Amino acid sequence: MVGGGEGSFIGAAHRIAARLDDRFELVAGALSSDPARALASGVALGLPGDRCYGGFEQMVACEAQRQGGAEVVAILTPNHLHAPVATACLQHGLDVICEKPLAISLAEAEALVRLSATKRCLFAVTHTYAGYPAIRHARELVASGALGDLRVVQVEYAQDWLATDLEQTGHKQAGWRTDPDRAGPAGALGDIGTHAFHLLCYVSGLAVEEICAEVHTFVPGRQLDDHVQAMLRLQGGARGMLWASQVASGEHNALRLRLYGSRASIRFDQEVPDMLWFAPLGEPAQCLRRGALNSESAAAATRLPPGHPEGWYEALAQLYRDFAELWHARAEGRVAPPWALATPQLHDGRQGLAFIDAVLRSHSAGQRWVRLK
Ligand code: NAD
Repeated sequence: MVGGGEGSFIGAAHRIAARLDDRFELVAGALSSDPARALASGVALGLPGDRCYGGFEQMVACEAQRQGGAEVVAILTPNHLHAPVATACLQHGLDVICEKPLAISLAEAEALVRLSATKRCLFAVTHTYAGYPAIRHARELVASGALGDLRVVQVEYAQDWLATDLEQTGHKQAGWRTDPDRAGPAGALGDIGTHAFHLLCYVSGLAVEEICAEVHTFVPGRQLDDHVQAMLRLQGGARGMLWASQVASGEHNALRLRLYGSRASIRFDQEVPDMLWFAPLGEPAQCLRRGALNSESAAAATRLPPGHPEGWYEALAQLYRDFAELWHARAEGRVAPPWALATPQLHDGRQGLAFIDAVLRSHSAGQRWVRLK
C-alpha cells in the first residue's frame, strides 16, 4: 500500500475492502509522505518494521525482488503521485490497484497505457460505485436491450463539504484537493466529476464523443473549480448532461444516474444503493432490490441476503474481489468470468483523463463543443 497512513481517508476503507472476502493480506507499505509517520502507521497495522518503507521507490524495488514479496500495490496517495507510483510498479512487474483519477494529465495516463501494454500486469482503477450490485444489474439491463435505444442520460454528483474555504483551516483532504500541484488541473471535476463520468459510461455502455462544458469556482480564493456542468453527445446519438459540485449545500454524496431509452428508463441514487428503479414505458415503475436481482453480475457482487443492508465498503470490496478473480485466472491460464472482467481498469482511468481534458478545453474555448481525445 502506498499512502493510506494515519489520518488518511481512503486508506482504512481499502484495508477493510481488501479483507472483506479474505483474498488479500497487507504485507508492506509506504504509507505516508513523512517517513516517521509511515513507520508508525505500518507498525500500528501490524507490519514488520523492515516492510514499512519511507518512500514508494524503495518499497517497490525491495518488494519486487523479495522472496514472497508484495504482488499487488494499492495506490492511495493524492493524485499527483498516482502515475509516478504506478510507473514504478509496472517497471518492476507489480500489479496495480490505483485510486482515481488515474493521473493528473491525459499525457501521463497515455504513458501508463503504453507502458502497461509491454507488461503482463493487472491494473484496476477504483471507481468504487461500479462495485454496487444495483449498478452491475443496471449495466446488464441496458446491455440486454431492456431500455430500448438510449436517448437521454443524466448524471449528477453533488456534495457540500467544500461549500466554505475549508482548505484554509488546515483540513488535510481539502488542502490537497484544492492545490493544483497535488490535485492536478481539476478540482471537483477530477475528484467527483470523473466518478460521475465513469458511472455514466459504465452503465450506458456508450462512449461520450463530444462535450460542451463550463467549470466554475464559487468559493473566493480557491485555486481550482468546485463546480462543473457539461452537455454531452454520446455514441449512437444519445444526449446527456453531467453536473458535479462540491458546494451544493445540504447534499452529502448525491451521485445519481438516470438513463432514458425508447422502451424504459432506470434511476439509481448512490445514497440508497440497494435499490434500482426500472420504469417501462406505460407501466408502473418497479423498485428492484438487491438480493432479488436476477443477473449474474449482481449475484456475484452480493454477500448478504435481501433486507440486510450492504453499501459503500462492499462496493469497494467488490473491486478487490474482481481483481483477485482476474489475478487467479491469469495464474491458472483461464479466462476470468464476465463479472470480474467488468471491473474498472486502466482504460477507464485513461478515459477519465480524456474527460477532464475535454471539459477544460471546452471551458477555455468559451464553452465550445469539443471532441474527446
Ligand atoms: P488523504 O489526504 O486522506 O490521504 C493521502 C495519503 O497519502 C496520506 O496518508 C499521505 O500521507 C499519503 N501520501 C502523500 N504523499 C505520499 C508519498 N510521497 N508517499 C506515500 N504516501 C504519501 O487523501 P484521501 O482522501 O484518502 O485520497 C487519496 C486518494 O484516494 C485520492 O486520489 C482520491 O481521489 C482517492 N479517493 C477515492 C475515493 C473513491 O471513492 N474511490 C474516495 C476518496 C478518495
